[in-house]
Amino acid sequence: MPAPATPALASGGLRSSLHDRGQRLTPQRQRVLGLFERIGEGAHLSAEEVHQRLLRSDERVSLATVYRTLRLLSSMGLLQELELPEGGRRFELASAAHRDHHHLVCVRCGQTEEFESAAVLEAGELAAHQHGFRLLECVLNVRALCRCCSAAEQL
Ligand SMILES: [Zn+2]
Ligand SMILES: [Zn+2]
Repeated sequence: MPAPATPALASGGLRSSLHDRGQRLTPQRQRVLGLFERIGEGAHLSAEEVHQRLLRSDERVSLATVYRTLRLLSSMGLLQELELPEGGRRFELASAAHRDHHHLVCVRCGQTEEFESAAVLEAGELAAHQHGFRLLECVLNVRALCRCCSAAEQL
């Protein structure tokens, strides 16, 4: 794993403010956030999957409420929202230590794999530098077909 190259957002200040904001959440919002924390980093869930998991653990909650809660947690910086052209929206835990990773997304079934790439980060840094920008985050979403969906297409 490459060392975090950008100190800008990885400071303790951000993390503690996230923590403070997290503590002001309603119980239901905390349960949604807790679900992501239990699964851990690297999980990318759709609103429907979050809803299913909550129902399984006996939470009576509507899909619309789950959507609203996910959007809210994203706007607070606690979750990160991935917009996938065909796969809809997915959410993952936002964390300073897990920022500069990229996504390989199957456009058919939505399967999402993460990868890290020093080359992508360097390209982002170079582009930012050339335009006089300060890099905050560098994320690449790669649209692809997974092995299963690719095989199904060739039938
Ligand atoms: Zn991710
Ligand atoms: Zn697929």
